[in-house]
Amino acid sequence: TETHDDLDLRDHIRGIPDFPKPGILFYDISTLLRHGPAWRAAMARLARVIRPYKPDLLAGIESRGFLVAAPLALELGLGFVMLRKPRKLPGATVGLDYALEYGTDRIEMQADAVQPGQRVVLLDDLLATGGTMAAGIALLRQAGAVVPASAALIELSFLNGRQRLDVPFEALLRYD
Ligand code: AMP
Repeated sequence: TETHDDLDLRDHIRGIPDFPKPGILFYDISTLLRHGPAWRAAMARLARVIRPYKPDLLAGIESRGFLVAAPLALELGLGFVMLRKPRKLPGATVGLDYALEYGTDRIEMQADAVQPGQRVVLLDDLLATGGTMAAGIALLRQAGAVVPASAALIELSFLNGRQRLDVPFEALLRYD
């Protein structure tokens, strides 16, 4: 089938030590993106786990979240909304500031991107502490969306990020 159940996605993700700073093991999805069958299988598998949540729309977090949400939206026959870094989106926007380990960050979306009550599933490439995903969920709700689930390709389970989320979280791969 198109999910290629014999294909191990782990073989297509590399861990790069000390990037972007010492002590961080960076999970690089570039090798997955550049492998056609593995990338296709990843999107097909994600489609299978997301479909039961019956989304009306998908949202992705800049920038690697776009690479997951946009093809998945095509796969599911849905539209796709961008959650972006500040001052990138034209027209009226709504935004949310959130805390990082050091300092704060902000994400924005277009004010008219979702209709009140629309079911929007939020996607990113990877869940670490969960702060980014939690902020995205809060922003979507602020805009009137219902968020039935969130998902990523990778979950760093030792960081317990999913405990910060009050919606179901789905991941294709978990690393301890
Ligand atoms: P967090 O808010 O801590 O869950 O961090 C998640 C965001 O940071 C995602 O958008 C990821 O792309 C990125 N990120 C955090 N840690 C890593 C990592 N070890 N490898 C790759 N990306 C990461």
